Amino acid sequence: MELRGARLDELELELVEPFETSFGVEKRRRFLLLELEERSGEVGYGECVATADPLYSSETVTTANEMIATRFLPELLRSRSVDPASFLRSAARYKGNRMAKAAVETALVDLAARLSGESVADHLGGGRRRIEVGVSVGIQPTVAGLVRRVGRYLDDGYRRIKLKVRPGWDARPVRAVRAAYPDIEIWVDANQAYPTRNVARIRRWATASRVAQVEQAFPERAIRAHADLARGAPFRVCLDESVVDMPSLEDALDAGAISSLNVKTGRVGGAEVGQALARRARRARVPAWVGGMLESGVGRAHNVHLASLPEFVLPNDLSASDRYYHEDVIERPFVLGPGSTLEVPKGPGIGVEVSERAVRRARRRSRTFRR
Ligand SMILES: [Mg+2]
Repeated sequence: MELRGARLDELELELVEPFETSFGVEKRRRFLLLELEERSGEVGYGECVATADPLYSSETVTTANEMIATRFLPELLRSRSVDPASFLRSAARYKGNRMAKAAVETALVDLAARLSGESVADHLGGGRRRIEVGVSVGIQPTVAGLVRRVGRYLDDGYRRIKLKVRPGWDARPVRAVRAAYPDIEIWVDANQAYPTRNVARIRRWATASRVAQVEQAFPERAIRAHADLARGAPFRVCLDESVVDMPSLEDALDAGAISSLNVKTGRVGGAEVGQALARRARRARVPAWVGGMLESGVGRAHNVHLASLPEFVLPNDLSASDRYYHEDVIERPFVLGPGSTLEVPKGPGIGVEVSERAVRRARRRSRTFRR
């Protein structure tokens, strides 16, 4: 492929309801949308999941904007021939900045798939027509409110429920949800909130409430604490923030610190990287699934295609559009289908159309680039 131009938009969408995790509360989502244009006029889209503040990771909208605008795009626009893998190879000399890299790589994957007339899923090897999804429920003001919120999601058709937890918001709310809904599958996600001395405590309340999976209880580098939690546990120990590349996954596997892998393209720096990590995990009998970062419809579409690949086997954190935003930037929203599933768009590319009207409304800054 040879690129002719690009557009980098900074957008802001208002969430349907505030989303609280152990990192803080999000009411609005600021993010980057990247449009790459090939010589033929075909375009591909990528989304950058970095947030306005460096809370989930050290990257932000501002740092990603800088990397994409001053490093990646000028280099891509100078190049005679680009593809997702060659981009990642040449971008590898820049440390970190994985969310910025993933935005570019996914846009290239979309573009390459569109040019070959196939869906992103088929381009990456082919997958299921529908994917199984669950919902991630933020920290709520009250336990009663949480139980009601979970009830509404179950009424909507979601089967697997993931509760955000943190010290002081764990044993009691999780027990209340379990008591109200004895048969549902409950996961919890602490986003690194616990000190490593809390292994036994977490194990107690998670076991008592028959939690199926405990995600990222400890800081990202605390591999040994995750291994301690996993030893003999009746639940899976899932790593999210700890796994950023193949070496970190290998170390976690060696240490016995991981029995489930949350793959986020932004965190690992690309869709093909995420697929490789999931394939490696599968060889070690560790199931993988695709996590969410409150993406707009563009990032969600990319995630849905990725989740449809055979490497991903657990229900994904990819809910219907109406769970996130009043107005999304894609024309046709994702809706929840039978059996707690989303349909994989048929393509070409990610198979969703970006609404220019919605982009204009959500736009805060915009830059265009020419060859
Ligand atoms: Mg997580």
